[in-house]
Amino acid sequence: MKIPKTIKRHCPYCKKHTTQKVTQAKKHNPSSLKYGSKNRAKRRGAARGIGSRGRYSKPAMSKWKMTGKKQSKKTDLRYECSECKKSKAQKKGFRTKKIEFK
Ligand SMILES: [Zn+2]
Repeated sequence: MKIPKTIKRHCPYCKKHTTQKVTQAKKHNPSSLKYGSKNRAKRRGAARGIGSRGRYSKPAMSKWKMTGKKQSKKTDLRYECSECKKSKAQKKGFRTKKIEFK
């Protein structure tokens, strides 16, 4: 997805519209999601109850479809005001495979 390098946006510090530089923040560690997805699998009942429950006939949890990397990542854009040099993060990220500044 292509995004302009600068954008006219409201700056809450200057309290008016200013030109702001758009940058993508550093990427997060993808393995940080693994713990949550394992918990969700437990809640589904995949790793509960009496007996083996087919646990030993299944491949390791890391080989399941739900765990692992997602195809797209949410953006984490930062807007830096050209007048006061203060920066602000975007409200909501959107999913995209690749981000490009034109
Ligand atoms: Zn400003």
